[in-house]
Amino acid sequence: MTILVKKSSFLQIISIILALSFTITAKTARKSTDHDFSYFESPFESPSKHAFKSRNHSSSNLEQKKSLVPIFGTECRVWSRECSEEILRIAKKPENVKWIKSVRRKIHENPELAFEEHETSEVIRKELDELEISYRFPLAKTGIRAMVGTGKPPFVAIRADMDALPIQEAVEWEHKSKNAGKMHACGHDAHVAMLVGAARILKARENHLKIKCSTVVENPISERQGPLSGQFGTVILLFQPAEEAGNGAKRMIKEGALEDVEAIFAMHISHLLPTAVIGSRSGPLLAGCGFFKVVIMGLDGNPHHSGDPILAASAAVISLQGIVSRESNPLDSQVVSVTFLNSGEDDLDVKPKRVEFGGTLRAFSNTSFHLLLKRIEEVIIAQAKVYKCSATVDFFKNSDTIYPPMINDDRMYRHVRNSAVDLVGPTNFRVVQPLMGAEDFSFYSEVIPAAFFYIGIKNETLGSVHSPHSPRFMIDENALPVGAAAHAAIAERYLNEREINISIDGLRRE
Ligand SMILES: [Zn+2]
Ligand SMILES: [Zn+2]
Repeated sequence: MTILVKKSSFLQIISIILALSFTITAKTARKSTDHDFSYFESPFESPSKHAFKSRNHSSSNLEQKKSLVPIFGTECRVWSRECSEEILRIAKKPENVKWIKSVRRKIHENPELAFEEHETSEVIRKELDELEISYRFPLAKTGIRAMVGTGKPPFVAIRADMDALPIQEAVEWEHKSKNAGKMHACGHDAHVAMLVGAARILKARENHLKIKCSTVVENPISERQGPLSGQFGTVILLFQPAEEAGNGAKRMIKEGALEDVEAIFAMHISHLLPTAVIGSRSGPLLAGCGFFKVVIMGLDGNPHHSGDPILAASAAVISLQGIVSRESNPLDSQVVSVTFLNSGEDDLDVKPKRVEFGGTLRAFSNTSFHLLLKRIEEVIIAQAKVYKCSATVDFFKNSDTIYPPMINDDRMYRHVRNSAVDLVGPTNFRVVQPLMGAEDFSFYSEVIPAAFFYIGIKNETLGSVHSPHSPRFMIDENALPVGAAAHAAIAERYLNEREINISIDGLRRE
């Protein structure tokens, strides 16, 4: 009870201080009405009255960095919409827009498949070197773990995938893929560009990640030692290979990508949302995905006693359809689909020795997913037995083709939503429906709280309306600066608000 009284009085002090800080920040910041999101609507490349000199290779790094520092200064001790506006303002500077597009185009022209992203990785490292951002390389063969901030906890991560697909690009444009049969048809080139863009913004605002806790909570207690003193906050930027192949995330985790990281966020382009509109949802977002391959054999090789693998396989395929339609909750979407069946022989008058078939399964919860795995195996083995055959079911567990469902942590989702609404306005944030697609970001979400969100690239005038993995897939590049700003705002705001929580925790422990 005493502790409770103490806590509440501390919280009162903090509330007053936060309110005061907010008032001061609001007074010094640029005048802005609550519903004025005109910055979002304005053309991304319109000349700004604060435009800085175009990038000159002969100018020093220092000069370039100075030009990245925001002109309007809000200290962002307590997060406000002005902080988001400032981040977006940096992202939308004409030089930065030009640069982020050029990074994306360079990667688009040179698509590399899973674990072959050597040149993509080199492009990223070159940009990080220029920004003087430190990183660890390699992780998972071509992956990079970059770091902006104090190098001290708390650590928050933002992630982009780097790999392309074995698809021949059918879009004719200046920066079309130069690698025959390979294409960035899932927008991972844009993901990389937006994360590098976020790195640039965060570096320009690195001082915001270095605020001492004692300056946040300005009261006599701040003089004490312990969790209130010292510098806090690091953003980890993960450039991950092999999302499409399915084991990039797993390998990144195994090689230390999430060391000390307490929360992680990732963004994917969406052809269903208009350009630069951000969308997400709490809970299940993308399905867990797996594959299975079955071999059914006659039992003892004796033609008089052995079963008929064709009949057994046919019965098994029919019975598999009953798992979802008869056993699962119709409100809990699941899929079991057989996609191939082969006896390997074309004799019309001989019973084959073996039959193979296989397919895919999808579910939106770990429980349903694991239940599906169990029931698929049970049904196949039992049906084989009915027809005097034996069966083996392989779920390719060793080759990492099972993706868990992507379930957004509610707290992390709300953080994304709040950050996005501040950045692009409430009308440009959408709660989206879950999709049956899968994404290996779910491996991270199994380890730490995570949220996955979308950024729209749909522009009917441009023709960027095709779904990912289509050879006609293309994006509206005007989403890129907003995506970079979203990454940066989400990461910086996470640390900003976490810092206050740490302070409060510290006070509670006193
Ligand atoms: Zn894809
Ligand atoms: Zn993708």
